[in-house]
Amino acid sequence: MTEVSVAKQDVAATGDLVVLKSVNKHFGALHVLQDIELTISRGEVVVVIGPSGSGKSTLCRTINRLETIDSGTITIDGRPLPHEGKELARLRADVGMVFQSFNLFAHKTVLENVTLGQTKVRRTDKKKAEERARALLDRVGVGAQADKYPAQLSGGQQQRVAIARALAMDPKVMLFDEPTSALDPEMINEVLEVMQQLARDGMTMIVVTHEMGFARSAANRVVFMADGRIVEQAAPDQFFSNPRSDRAKDFLSKIL
Ligand code: ADP
Ligand code: MG
Repeated sequence: MTEVSVAKQDVAATGDLVVLKSVNKHFGALHVLQDIELTISRGEVVVVIGPSGSGKSTLCRTINRLETIDSGTITIDGRPLPHEGKELARLRADVGMVFQSFNLFAHKTVLENVTLGQTKVRRTDKKKAEERARALLDRVGVGAQADKYPAQLSGGQQQRVAIARALAMDPKVMLFDEPTSALDPEMINEVLEVMQQLARDGMTMIVVTHEMGFARSAANRVVFMADGRIVEQAAPDQFFSNPRSDRAKDFLSKIL
């Protein structure tokens, strides 16, 4: 018995972490996600690119159930997405999300922002949660800002706090939806560097971005979306040097 369950864990520990099968979603008449099939392995970094309005944000939002789906299945670590209650709060903790707008709690200090979810959802005691928060804030390079309020920080610093806050929940996967799009140009790299380091540390990541340099250097796979569909996916060097679809060729000709 014991041997069997250990073997099962081993399979789970190396296998598919996020699996979307035949996922469809509409906003009224708009078919925003069309038959999405996507499997992300543990430790994999997937960059999602595509024109504005192609469904990238909606895809991210369905994975942590900020949006419901009309049909299909989404599983995280072998478990279907829960619908509500405590299970949903736990899922949100397992799936860290970083948005374009930093979404920090404005009336809480930086330290409180990174401590709150740990004590409320993970039930970590306050002292341990604060220790972990300080260590994470150091790791993303904003340890000295712990007692300030978000508005006192630059955009790049706020976004790094948002990353630390998601990491504090010990997520299984991190979703980034255009995390640098709202930043002044000189702050983009400090955020991308934190993300690069996370990728090197083995975090499973889904990253929507227009930063093709990041895609080339950090991604294991590029997923190209257009009109609610995954049009093609490939390793970055293959995708950028030899896109197969006309849609991808057209998109790349406009951004590169
Ligand atoms: P992307 O992130 O690729 O720019 P989105 O997922 O944000 O695309 O949006 C895809 C399409 O769905 C767009 O046409 C957008 O206007 C529409 N859309 C997104 N959210 C909603 C919503 N809550 N209600 C209605 N339409 C929406
Ligand atoms: Mg978007």
